[in-house]
Amino acid sequence: AKALSDKLKALDGQAKAKTIVVIGGGLSGLACGKYLSDSGHKAVVLEARDVLGGKVSAWQDEDGDWIETGLHIFFGAYPNMMNLFAELGIEDRLQWKRHQMTFAMQEFPGEFTTFEFPGWPAPLNMAAAILLNQKMLSPLEKLQTGPPLLPMLVEGQRFIDAQDECSVTDFCKKYGMPDRIIKEVFIPMAKALDFIDPDKLSMTVVLTAMNRFINETDGSQTAFLDGNQPDRLCKPIVEHIHQRGGKVRLGAVIEEIVLNEDASVKHLRLRGGEVLEADEYVSALPVDVFKRLLPAQWSSMPFFRQLDNLEGIPVINIHLWFDRKLKNIDALCFSRSPLLSVYADMSTCCKEYYDEERSMLELVFAPCAAIAGSSVNWIAKSDDEIVEATMKELERLFPTEIGEKLADGARLRKSRVVKVPRSVYAAVPGRNNFRPSQATPIRNFTLAGDWTSQKFLGSMEGAVLAGKLAAQVVSERALSIPSQVKRVADFIIEQPSKAPEGI
Ligand code: FAD
Repeated sequence: AKALSDKLKALDGQAKAKTIVVIGGGLSGLACGKYLSDSGHKAVVLEARDVLGGKVSAWQDEDGDWIETGLHIFFGAYPNMMNLFAELGIEDRLQWKRHQMTFAMQEFPGEFTTFEFPGWPAPLNMAAAILLNQKMLSPLEKLQTGPPLLPMLVEGQRFIDAQDECSVTDFCKKYGMPDRIIKEVFIPMAKALDFIDPDKLSMTVVLTAMNRFINETDGSQTAFLDGNQPDRLCKPIVEHIHQRGGKVRLGAVIEEIVLNEDASVKHLRLRGGEVLEADEYVSALPVDVFKRLLPAQWSSMPFFRQLDNLEGIPVINIHLWFDRKLKNIDALCFSRSPLLSVYADMSTCCKEYYDEERSMLELVFAPCAAIAGSSVNWIAKSDDEIVEATMKELERLFPTEIGEKLADGARLRKSRVVKVPRSVYAAVPGRNNFRPSQATPIRNFTLAGDWTSQKFLGSMEGAVLAGKLAAQVVSERALSIPSQVKRVADFIIEQPSKAPEGI
């Protein structure tokens, strides 16, 4: 990660500075703007909303409480994100938690179990964490978990990539993973990684995460940002872009990508009629929005046609404020509940939201759509219905603290629900084949966004890396260096594109 940053900085001053418009002020667009600035170009980042961050955006309600689009966790295995924090001088804003994984016990309501990672090098720390946990898996189950994962350890990334055709459930069946491990470990992992059930999720997603956790000593250690993401993370990136002569504009909604006759971009048309012309253009839009804006002339090109196979899934993020402190857990928890994914008590985990008297739980509701015939379509339900269902689930997680029948139970003071009908791309089997490279067949147009091809899935790390790779494509093109970030030729044979290894 640092090597790529250094490489981009070394390009500063080597080519005539260009003006590059980046569409979308999420982490990917902001990272792209930052690295374009570092390599000597003028980045103009355009964000449609009046708040930065996209999927990490947050805003204050009438009481001054922060409402977040999603509960966000940083992992030790996020090299580009960690490098970005270091470059911005804001590493102290990451609140690292004890190296452990905390799961609610399904059979024992109210009980939690932790996998404690001792301070040994990987993979010994993970082996010890699994072996020393006595509550969740029996010794036999622990032994049975090993063999199905052996091919990943032996063959590495090649094996992992090949599993994209398999759902988590199919993989577990094929390799003889015991049913209880699917239920106890893989369901919560699938719901945490992409907010869908394991029969829908590509096994590549789970193996990619596991591979990093197994190979990197701090890979699975988690950190919370010490406050809201727009101020604590996005703002320093914006300041960096401004200092280097670039701009970040809010409320700038792109309505049309207007083309020249040769299919290159002529200019962008904004809502309100403004026209913006630049030397180059980068889209860091979510895939569904990009598909809507795709110019007709591009839509028949195989490179862009492959995007028909990608789409965002609905995600719901819930905030619940209680009148007292609940069981004090200073960590991300895997709820292992049918309706919920991970959650955290932000009044304990996050400095800006600290409250010693009262808890604020932030929870991701998953799965929340009836994709491929699954469960209820929660995204269409009212906020009240969603909160009510969540409270029912919480009665099981906090049986002595939450429940209508408890005379002195914790009372809900207020709640906020954030529904995003098209959020992270659905990492269902076979999707990696359709994730495009950052380099496109269009001479002045580049793609970014967590859904473009990079090896860190749809995550904050993936968004930052994709933005950085897009900056690399543009900066190298300015110097007529053949881009390393390419599979552009592949679109001719209708193959997907991949980022180079080793970043
Ligand atoms: P986005 O954040 O979607 O940015 C796209 C931007 O484009 C948005 O700001 C949008 O407003 C803007 N835009 C849209 N239309 C226009 C237009 N017409 N003109 C101009 N701008 C426009 N990742 C992790 O690593 N760890 C986690 O714990 C984690 N938890 C998550 C929890 C939830 C509930 C969700 C939804 C996601 C989570 N993620 C997590 C994933 C992570 O948030 C995303 O992968 C990442 O933020 C995506 O960044 P992006 O810049 O690619 O896209």
